Amino acid sequence: MLTGKFPTTIGTNTPVTQPQQPFASARTKIPTRQAIALISEHGDPAAEIGKDAAGGQNVYVRQVGEALARLGWQVDMFTRKSSPDDATIVQHTPHCRTIRLIAGPETYIPRDELFQYMPDFVDALQKFQQKEGTNYPLAHTNYWMSGWVGLELKRRQNIQLIHTYHSLGAVKYQSVSEIPAIAQTRLDVEKQLLEQAHSIVATSPQEKADLENLVSRIGNIDIIPCGTDVSTFHPISKADARKQLGIGTKEKVVLYVGRFDKRKGIETLVRATGELREKLEYSAEIDPQNLKLLIVGGSDPNEADGAERRRIEKIVTELDLHANTEFVGMVGHDRLALYYTAADVCVIPSHYEPFGLVAIEAMACGTPVVASAVGGLKFTVISEETGLLVPPHDVSKFAHAIGRILTDEVWARKMRKQASARVHQNFSWTGVAIQLSDLYRYLLAQSLIGSGLTRISSNPAALLPKLIAS
Ligand code: UDP
Repeated sequence: MLTGKFPTTIGTNTPVTQPQQPFASARTKIPTRQAIALISEHGDPAAEIGKDAAGGQNVYVRQVGEALARLGWQVDMFTRKSSPDDATIVQHTPHCRTIRLIAGPETYIPRDELFQYMPDFVDALQKFQQKEGTNYPLAHTNYWMSGWVGLELKRRQNIQLIHTYHSLGAVKYQSVSEIPAIAQTRLDVEKQLLEQAHSIVATSPQEKADLENLVSRIGNIDIIPCGTDVSTFHPISKADARKQLGIGTKEKVVLYVGRFDKRKGIETLVRATGELREKLEYSAEIDPQNLKLLIVGGSDPNEADGAERRRIEKIVTELDLHANTEFVGMVGHDRLALYYTAADVCVIPSHYEPFGLVAIEAMACGTPVVASAVGGLKFTVISEETGLLVPPHDVSKFAHAIGRILTDEVWARKMRKQASARVHQNFSWTGVAIQLSDLYRYLLAQSLIGSGLTRISSNPAALLPKLIAS
């Protein structure tokens, strides 16, 4: 339990035992849409993606939020306000908005220093509810600190709590050399969440197994994967994409997309590129000058992720890879499909990757993926069919795998088709939102009716007031 560390009001409220009219809202006399809260304390759904700490979690919350709104919910997404210049409320679509709460200084705060402001976050969220005259009957929290917020809300009001981890301390701390001071608190909260949330949404079977083996055997886990926007990421002409980006037809393009963070393993990729270039010097298959490594993501070298970028730049210099490497910077989703399509292979060399959106985005565009055999990547990438899985950190195996794809055109073409088919069939945001929506409706129905409800009911939502389709 996390007692003693926080203001005495936390966790001391009497639990609400009777359901409190979860479908009534003072804002409107006749309820139209059911309002739900998505909570993502550091992953601002309205943030620019690819910069600083903005990555997969931001994309997940925003895409899921918008897709749930299309399915008929009123979606309020809560995050921490990290700049005075940011708007307090951002309306994304008529029924989906981001609300930025004041919790701590309005500036960027590294994740490991953020937990102390979570009690303020809970208070601000409750004040927002009072002001709006609403009481969310359901909250879907993202990452352990939002999960803690969810646990506190659950103690204070009648709320169904669904949690997605995005990253699991018990796994992450196995792959990092420096364990932060907050580690034990995080592990405790992650265990409480598994045991006390009404449902845990694991994004891959690997994550479910990790939770059961490393965190606790108690808990209700549903597997609902992450998704991708298949209207943005889909196969287009490689020749056109290269033309638009000014990339020649002879170039062999190896692509990295993501944040500059040590756990992303960019060093492994740069060293693998160096090793591959050396091998190419002795083979006639590819001119080493045509080997191109494009590194997409990150912002200004002076920003929060700048230290890792500078470290990577030094390795590029050490290996004399300047002519082969380009730091593209941050690219929005509107243009990212061009990069994926133009590439011959997309590489994800992470030490640990709970899901890895980049893998399904690349595959959706028909680009084979070479990825570390870790976490969600073992679920999304099918080795030899949609790409290759390689042990993390293994520079030579990465170099070999990238080389295999670059030098076997026929096999690569086959993989392009298989990769895009896999994503389009299994990982669309709409499909993900439909599964989440069913889960929410089931939990809300259960909260009204009691635990006797059987999940196999084809449509538990039929027990609830109908949601109005948009
Ligand atoms: N991304 C982006 N532009 C960039 C770099 C990254 O839009 O310049 C997006 C990328 O498309 C993906 C997300 O950031 O949607 C990264 O998610 P992933 O799950 O791969 O990694 P995370 O950041 O969560 O560790």
